[in-house]
Amino acid sequence: MPQLLSSQKVTVIGAGVIGLSTAHELASHGYQVTVVSDQDTLQTVSSVSAAIWFPYHSENSPAADLLLSRTLSRFQALSLIPETGVDLRFGMDIERRADADRSWTNFVADSAPAEPEILPEGALAAMAGTVPVITMPTYLSWLRGQCTNLSVRFIERTVKSLSEFTDEADVVVLAAGLRGGELLGDDDSVYPIRGQVVRLANTVGLTEWISDDDHPDGVIYVIPRRDDIIVGGIDVDHDSNPEVDPQTSIDILKRATTLVSALADCEVLEHKVGLRPARETIRLERLDVQGVSVIAAYGHGGGGVTMSWGTAQRVHELMGS
Ligand SMILES: Cc1cc2nc3c(=O)[nH]c(=O)nc-3n(C[C@H](O)[C@H](O)[C@H](O)COP(=O)(O)OP(=O)(O)OC[C@H]3O[C@@H](n4cnc5c(N)ncnc54)[C@H](O)[C@@H]3O)c2cc1C
Repeated sequence: MPQLLSSQKVTVIGAGVIGLSTAHELASHGYQVTVVSDQDTLQTVSSVSAAIWFPYHSENSPAADLLLSRTLSRFQALSLIPETGVDLRFGMDIERRADADRSWTNFVADSAPAEPEILPEGALAAMAGTVPVITMPTYLSWLRGQCTNLSVRFIERTVKSLSEFTDEADVVVLAAGLRGGELLGDDDSVYPIRGQVVRLANTVGLTEWISDDDHPDGVIYVIPRRDDIIVGGIDVDHDSNPEVDPQTSIDILKRATTLVSALADCEVLEHKVGLRPARETIRLERLDVQGVSVIAAYGHGGGGVTMSWGTAQRVHELMGS
């Protein structure tokens, strides 16, 4: 690493999965990194995430493909370290439309069509494969600890303007999720896609994930993690209601139980709502704002975890541009 880079000060705005991955990537390349955020990591949208490596409500482009493949490789490596909370799990994505998007299978070595006899009623096909499943509270706490070990400083405050960093940082990375555009001032194209999930105790030893996006009664996904199972869900565009809707939880569990009957025996631990930071394309570019050198890194929609390490690596590349 060139000596010059290690003297550069970088402020990352945001302590969700994008901010922390970026802080880790830059600090491991010798930058002096400070993370500023007004939400604790475990209160962010990232902590609500299911979280499975799977592109969902996120950009579909060659640039996004690079983010996906780089992130997959990193999570595969992290799955070898138990304390990260990253596991590789087999499961399947049910297809109910002839034009179902199978692009994710291009990245997954063991992906293959599922046996027709295991398909639920009304399904046309399903693609199965082994992908990373991340127990987010464990993973985010581990990642934050790794950042601290790399001397990343954490500051809790709300940033009102990027000009606050004119004298404080050489570069500001804007990893502020849903509020990224607001801070740049030139971007009102980020919008929430509201999600709600039910967290169950994994007392039935479930290990296989399943998703059924086009189920006639609504989206279903069941993601078994270490000790719990995330059951979803909904995706409501432009809905920023942060409150749990009890009827939605009842409906989610009812739909999911028709697909995975063992869920009926699991204790409900928690109900959660999160607002996915959606944008037509992820904003990942370097720009000058009010005399501050900024790298924008937001708008990951329903795929922020899935593209987190790829985003962090791209930010690192943009540092040198
Ligand atoms: C129900 C649900 C399920 C999901 N499942 C998956 C999944 O299985 N796989 C997947 O890849 N993705 C999933 N996602 C999407 C994923 O959670 C998001 O894409 C990701 O968390 C976005 O991360 P982020 O770091 O950009 O934003 P956030 O996690 O929202 O973090 C934003 C950070 O910016 C800070 N911030 C913002 N503005 C300011 C300011 N002005 N001053 C100071 N700090 C500021 C906040 O404090 C926070 O720390 C899911 C989302 C939901 C809601």
